Amino acid sequence: MKTFENFKIDVDADGIAVIAFDVPGRSMNTLTSGVMAELPELAELIKTDESIKGAVITSGKASGFCAGADLGDMAGGMVGGASLQDAFDAGWKMNGALRAIETCGKPVAAAINGLALGGGLELTLACHYRVAGDNPKIQLGLPEIKVGLFPGGGGTQRLPRLIGVQAAMMAMTEGKSFRPNDAKGAGIIHEVVAAGSEVEAAKAWIKGGGKAVAPWDDKGFKQPGGGPYHPAGIQNFLVGNAMIKKQTYGNYPAALNLMKAVYEGIQVPIDAALRIETRYFIKTLMTPQAQAMIRSLFLSKQELDKGAVRPAGVPKSDPKKVTVIGAGMMGAGIAYVQAMAGIETILIDQTQEAADKGKAHVEELLKKRLSRGQLTQEKFDALLGSVTATTDYDLIKGSDLVVEAVFENREIKADVTKRAEAQLAEGAIFGSNTSTLPITGLAEASVRPEDFIGIHFFSPVDKMMLVEIILGEKTGEAAIAKTLDYVLKIKKTPIVVNDSRGFYTSRCFSTFLMEGMAMLEEGWAPALIDNVGRMTGMPRGPLEMHDDVALDLSYKIAKQTALDLGDKYVPAEGADIVAKMVEGGRFGRKNGMGFYDYASKPKTLWAGLAELAPVTKHIDGPEEPGAFGQIDELKTRLLYRQAVEVARCWEEGVIDDPREADLGAILGWGFAPWTGGPITLIDQTGLAKFVETADRLAATYGDRFKVPQLLRDMAAKGETFYGNFAGSQKAAA
Ligand code: NAD
Repeated sequence: MKTFENFKIDVDADGIAVIAFDVPGRSMNTLTSGVMAELPELAELIKTDESIKGAVITSGKASGFCAGADLGDMAGGMVGGASLQDAFDAGWKMNGALRAIETCGKPVAAAINGLALGGGLELTLACHYRVAGDNPKIQLGLPEIKVGLFPGGGGTQRLPRLIGVQAAMMAMTEGKSFRPNDAKGAGIIHEVVAAGSEVEAAKAWIKGGGKAVAPWDDKGFKQPGGGPYHPAGIQNFLVGNAMIKKQTYGNYPAALNLMKAVYEGIQVPIDAALRIETRYFIKTLMTPQAQAMIRSLFLSKQELDKGAVRPAGVPKSDPKKVTVIGAGMMGAGIAYVQAMAGIETILIDQTQEAADKGKAHVEELLKKRLSRGQLTQEKFDALLGSVTATTDYDLIKGSDLVVEAVFENREIKADVTKRAEAQLAEGAIFGSNTSTLPITGLAEASVRPEDFIGIHFFSPVDKMMLVEIILGEKTGEAAIAKTLDYVLKIKKTPIVVNDSRGFYTSRCFSTFLMEGMAMLEEGWAPALIDNVGRMTGMPRGPLEMHDDVALDLSYKIAKQTALDLGDKYVPAEGADIVAKMVEGGRFGRKNGMGFYDYASKPKTLWAGLAELAPVTKHIDGPEEPGAFGQIDELKTRLLYRQAVEVARCWEEGVIDDPREADLGAILGWGFAPWTGGPITLIDQTGLAKFVETADRLAATYGDRFKVPQLLRDMAAKGETFYGNFAGSQKAAA
């Protein structure tokens, strides 16, 4: 029998071929170009080999069934200069092969013994029967939308035919994954069995006379929930289109193309439907948005998650005991992620009561996991037991690292630094979770500033994936490496930046808030400002986000900056408005009063704002030609203002790696993901065009849009950031 590189085949006495998917040299199966090349041959073998009566496809790996397409291969292989026909042919390979398996005339079952995502799940959807193990680690889903794509291996056609258009569209537009029992409830798989007995159950189905025909190849097949011309079915598309527009503001071609593929596809037989899917898939893959999102949200993320910027010369470390000082909102969150990563945690606060309160928060988060079946009681007890709440600094002894998350106050932080360092062994690291105080200044309290570093977590710590590591002037290589080892161990994505007021993320994010304030001062209506903010692809508008961050924090930072900068201080846009609001007791979402009132749901704009910032500007009516131009101008201002600040950070050396700059922006402050990040936005716009637009904005609105000389020089030479990038300087240093 023919042998394969990626599939091991074993035919039993009953003629059932157990096909173990096992890509050599990889910890997890993905649909590499090698797998794609073998899939048609595999289909042919199942169909033509007479010793095979039926087949069970399973995974030969303990890590999972299949994590989906190899996006690195795909982005390069299908798009790199390919003609449309070549791109279609490449895209069709998967669909053609899966369709061949589906129509081979013999029963084929998928024994899902690990996570099956994207193309991995699509492979199982082309099988006639799906059985999954009862294992909470198994996830089944089609998450392609998260990287600017949609399922292109038959998912857009088979899932709606299986569970109806509405449920399928929800699963695909949210990229949501299902646990085995939920997937069974939704009708995506047929059976859930005890983990480890998937292959047996799949074989039993075949031996019991399992049918070798997909439901949609049966003569009497009816689309569940009705097709587009069915009175109920049509609602899915009328409402669905509106919902997609509402959620994406037209920024994500993938979502719209997904809808088109489903709408057109379910009206025709499956073979034609799959070709329709491939056409829309290729069209989507070629959009700048998909290219940008795949690079930043998948490829760069993978690289940074593997420690791409870690100094190579320092031996790998494995932090086993870490102390967190300050058991408030941030400290408790940090203790939780540490416990989850198997790190012994000492959680210190000023009083036992405060420390216990922090640990109670850890317990609350762990309980959620317990109730969802993601933790056993035994594991729950062990994880909670790994956190010690105390006031005793002696317990710090033996820690590999300390993370300080006490009040944002220089003196308190200096005191804590001294007390903690007295307990630390040589080579242990002291990290500060400050959000605003420059690291070089805080390091002055340290007796070994080479081991002092900024470890900036985002709130809420358990949900936010980014950690911004900040280097003080004296931070040494070993400290960078050990901190990266720690951040990777708690499964967060790290970026490493140099010291600057507001570091990288807070500094650039604040420009989004400030541009919103500038618009408010100019007389634009607050509702318009926030709507336009959302239209750019930011998660919320600048005023809403200002409320979330807290107006009193803006106010305090402005005061502190004025003190620090003296004569050089220039008040930020709208500082007067914020000051009046804070002095009147409006602190933002945290006390239910900011630009919005939060007493009622949904929140409503605060009526008093009309007096502080009277509305004097209006968008022209639809009959006048300028309306869309005005909206576009406001959108451009919000995005360019942030991108210009990012470019300034680059020129000043705060950042030097486009992957970190882009991913840090998306994960750290929600910079419009469709752009792939601010650096990609500049690159894709073209440096010359970006500079030209920014110059025009600077002439109209002021120097805040003035680009750094670096951008002009790059534009003159026809360069791009990614084109110039030859590896991080930090890693090379
Ligand atoms: P918090 O007020 O919720 O918690 C601070 C905790 O530190 C309190 O429990 C307090 O009792 C404790 N503390 C104060 N002095 C102490 C001392 N001398 N020894 C031991 N414990 C002491 O504040 P938070 O929001 O958790 O912020 C903590 C730090 O994290 C600040 O530096 C803040 O700037 C930074 N940060 C906050 C956020 C955020 O969104 N809240 C985000 C990133 C960074």
